[in-house]
Amino acid sequence: MNCADFEAQLDAYIDNELPPAVVDEMTEHLGACAACARSHERQLALRRALTQHAPALQAPPGLRASIRQAIRAQIRPAATRRLPGTWKLATTRASAEALTDALLASHVRSLLGSHLLDVASSDQHTVKPWFNGKLDYSPSVYDLAGRGYPLLGGRLDYVANHAVAALVYGRRQHVISVFLWPAERGPTAGPATVTRQGYHMLHWIAPDYAYWVVSDLGSTELREFTQLLQRADSAAARPDGR
Ligand SMILES: [Zn+2]
Repeated sequence: MNCADFEAQLDAYIDNELPPAVVDEMTEHLGACAACARSHERQLALRRALTQHAPALQAPPGLRASIRQAIRAQIRPAATRRLPGTWKLATTRASAEALTDALLASHVRSLLGSHLLDVASSDQHTVKPWFNGKLDYSPSVYDLAGRGYPLLGGRLDYVANHAVAALVYGRRQHVISVFLWPAERGPTAGPATVTRQGYHMLHWIAPDYAYWVVSDLGSTELREFTQLLQRADSAAARPDGR
């Protein structure tokens, strides 16, 4: 058995759905291959986390699958081909759907406790430079604490097989993920608003960046938050800074 076979059957292995002969082969590979053993461990940890948080998150099977997929894409970057041009998703309904799935999965995955923040800081002057050298663009980071939306930090995330900036803001006990990437290079498909599984997603294109905001915050407050971001963006774009 090779790693690809192992990976393809890992879910079924954990779910005890494989014939005994294949189970033996899987177990043998598990003992011999450190990479697959790690992947197996991660999968078990993810299952535990999902079970633990399932009552609160009510993650349906489809969402679990996208989370698993997103995690695989993240933990096996070598297996992901990064051909030029793959960044640009076709603007079809299916790819827009895949994009919103990936963003929602990323947001939910961050809430599972494994990867909410890579840089934890309420200081925009700490969070913005943290992305230097990790991305080839510099995301706009704003201090909105005065308006009731404190900056919590940021993380590097993977969407459509590319590293993107995710900024994390808070509102009471709610977490808001703000994903952004250069509009001319990234996928820009998608409806302006999506509500799925209790999460609201708002999407817009600022002059330079494609934005996606994801949260379980009420839609009125989330809209207020996006307006604050948009105002901060256009203020920053003015040369006199006002
Ligand atoms: Zn292997």
